[in-house]
Amino acid sequence: MFLHIDIDAFFASAESAVDKSLRGIPMAVGSRSNLEIFERARSNTRLMNDNSGAFVAPVFYSERSKTFESYFVDHIGGERKIRGIITSASYEARAYGVKTAMPVAQALQLCPQMIVIPSHYRLYHTMSQRLYRFMQRKIPHVEQYSIDEFFGDLKGWVADKDVYAFARDLQEEIMARFSLPVSIGIAQAKWIAKLATETAKPYGIYQVDDIDAYIEDIPIEAFPGIGKGFQKRLKEHHIRTLGELKRSRALLYRWKKPGIQLYKRVTGTDEEGISLRPPRKSIGISRTFDPIYDAKEVKRRMMVMARNISYMVLAIDANPTTYYLRIGYEYGMRVKKHESHHRIFSETLFKQILSQMFENIALPNKGAVKLSLSVSGFASQQRKTLSLLELDSDMKSKKLSQNVQQLREKFGIDIIKTGNEL
Ligand SMILES: [Mg+2]
Repeated sequence: MFLHIDIDAFFASAESAVDKSLRGIPMAVGSRSNLEIFERARSNTRLMNDNSGAFVAPVFYSERSKTFESYFVDHIGGERKIRGIITSASYEARAYGVKTAMPVAQALQLCPQMIVIPSHYRLYHTMSQRLYRFMQRKIPHVEQYSIDEFFGDLKGWVADKDVYAFARDLQEEIMARFSLPVSIGIAQAKWIAKLATETAKPYGIYQVDDIDAYIEDIPIEAFPGIGKGFQKRLKEHHIRTLGELKRSRALLYRWKKPGIQLYKRVTGTDEEGISLRPPRKSIGISRTFDPIYDAKEVKRRMMVMARNISYMVLAIDANPTTYYLRIGYEYGMRVKKHESHHRIFSETLFKQILSQMFENIALPNKGAVKLSLSVSGFASQQRKTLSLLELDSDMKSKKLSQNVQQLREKFGIDIIKTGNEL
C-alpha cells in the first residue's frame, strides 16, 4: 500500500505549532510580492538551499523580524494600505471564506478578527526537514514530494490489513511530536493515495479499497497533475469525471505518452514507485511584474535574478552547461533563447551569456512583464566534460564567485552586487 501524507494548512499550522495562542482561531500566513529581490535597498535576504530533493524549491527568507504593520502596511500620501496575499489559512479562517492567494486586505474584510502573520519560510523549511527525517525512521521507502507532502511505500513493511492502524498511529505521533496536523490517503497506487488525501482533509485518514468506485464521480480537476491544457482537451471530449476518463482509454492512448501516463495514474495501474531523492535537474527563477518599457531596468532585474541563481548553483556545487532566458511582454508576446556552454560556471560567465542573449532577443519599445531564467545540464567537473579553452580565466572567475559566495552566506545575498545590477 501507498501512503500520501500532507500537512493541513502547512504554513498556518507551523505558526500555530510554535505559538499556542494561535490554535483554534481564524489565522493566516501572508506574503508580500516576490518582487522584493529587485529593491535597491539591502533586505538581508538569505536563502535556504539544502538540496534535500528536487521538489523542495529553494526559498528566500528575510532575517528581519516582521510585524503586521511593518510588513503588510504601506503608507502612501497619508493613506494606510494593506498589501500582500494569503499563502495559507487555518481551517477556522477558511470557514469565513478566506482562501490561499486572496489579497490580505480582502481576507480581512471577510474575517476582521483574523490574525495575519508575515511568512517565516525558514521555520517552515526547518519543520519540513525534521518531519522528513522522522518519516525516514518510520517508513523505509519515503519520498518528500513537496515542502508539506510525503509518499510512503509500505510494501513488505506493513501488511495491507494493518495499514490503516499504522497511518492512524503515524498521524497521532506527528501531532504529539511536532504539533502538526496531517491528513493521510491510503491506496494500492501512488497517485490515488494522493487523491485520497483530499477526501481525508482536514486531519483525517481515507483508505481507497475500490479504486473504480472511488474515482467514478470525482471531477478531473481534482486529480493531481492534470494541467489547464489537458483539462481543456478532456472537456472538448466531454470528459468531466475520472470515471468518464477511465472509459476513454482509446482516446487517451492516442495522446501518446502524457495521455497514457494520465490514464494509468487515474486507473491506479501506473505501477510507479516512490522516487528516492532524485538529483536536482535545473535551477530557475521567474518573476512577473507590471510592464517595464525601459530595457535597462529589465536588464537590471535579469542581473538580480542571475545573482540569485548563481548563489543557488554554487550552494549545491553544481556546474550547469545550458542557460535559458525567457522574456514575456504585454499582450502575450514572448521571446526565448537557450545556449549551451561547456565551461566552468561562474556568476561572471552567467551574466555575460545572459547579456548576449538579452541583446539578441529583447524586443525594443515593448513592455516586459515577465522574466524567467534557468540553468540545467549539470556536468560533473571531475569528468572533464568542460572546455579547456577558457580554463584559466574561467577558473579565476570561479574562484571569485566562490569568495563572493562565502560573504553572501555570512551577510546575505545582496551584500555584493556587480555593476550591471546597480
Ligand atoms: Mg498541505
